[in-house]
Amino acid sequence: MTDKDQYKIQDEPFYQQQTNEVALYEAAYRNRLPVMVKGPTGCGKSRFVEYMAWKLGKPLITVACNEDMTASDLVGRYLLDEGGTRWLDGPLTTAARIGAICYLDEIVEARQDTTVVIHPLTDHRRTLPLDKKGELIHAHPDFQLVISYNPGYQTLMKDLKQSTKQRFTAFDFDYPDAALETEIVAKETGLDADTVAKLVKIGNVARNLKGHGLDEGISTRLLVYAATLIKDSVSPQDACRMALVRPITDDIDIRETLDHAIDATF
Ligand code: ADP
Repeated sequence: MTDKDQYKIQDEPFYQQQTNEVALYEAAYRNRLPVMVKGPTGCGKSRFVEYMAWKLGKPLITVACNEDMTASDLVGRYLLDEGGTRWLDGPLTTAARIGAICYLDEIVEARQDTTVVIHPLTDHRRTLPLDKKGELIHAHPDFQLVISYNPGYQTLMKDLKQSTKQRFTAFDFDYPDAALETEIVAKETGLDADTVAKLVKIGNVARNLKGHGLDEGISTRLLVYAATLIKDSVSPQDACRMALVRPITDDIDIRETLDHAIDATF
């Protein structure tokens, strides 16, 4: 038997609600509806799911999806060891057995055949067929499936099929407004609100460049990095260049624009 306590979140994660998403998630969970959390990278999707798992007191199993991921990586496979062959459950199977919330992060990265294995878990059947093992799992009553999805990365080649999308309820996340984001970054890092407000301002300059040379703006995650560096006595200019600008672009013009914004702000 898997020890489900290892997947429980012990301490309350800090999560600042943007609107009424906590109550809405609770309603979805009460009815075991699958949930999709949409939004740009680093805007709080994973933190929200972690917080909800903690609040509901349920174990959380997170899988970071990638393009090499196969259905077996989710469901499980036979392994060969000294004792012969042995079946090893994948994370989705473990979650269905123990009644965890299974969070598939960036599901759109995974190959399309991978997404099909989640289908029977998302409707009234709540089952997971382990074809190779010849077993049909009936999900534990506490099991819930959650996926995240960044619509910005979506291309014709990489998008969820309607038949997958239409199995989920969805939350639309975005970077919080300036006041709320300042509160979040200040609380998360302990940096004073005045300095954080300046970081948020620079973040918003970059977000306005999205589509004009930048694929994505500066995420809340990067603002947290910059604030952490400043808190550790790195100069604001260095911290901003290192955490906010260098990671997101190699374009000289955009770098210059952002570097100017930093010098003008600090
Ligand atoms: P993603 O949307 O990529 O899953 P995360 O949930 O990992 O992003 O968020 C990145 C970081 O931003 C978190 O580690 C946290 O520091 C911060 N963050 C973003 N939004 C919030 C929020 N609403 N409450 C608390 N922290 C947040």
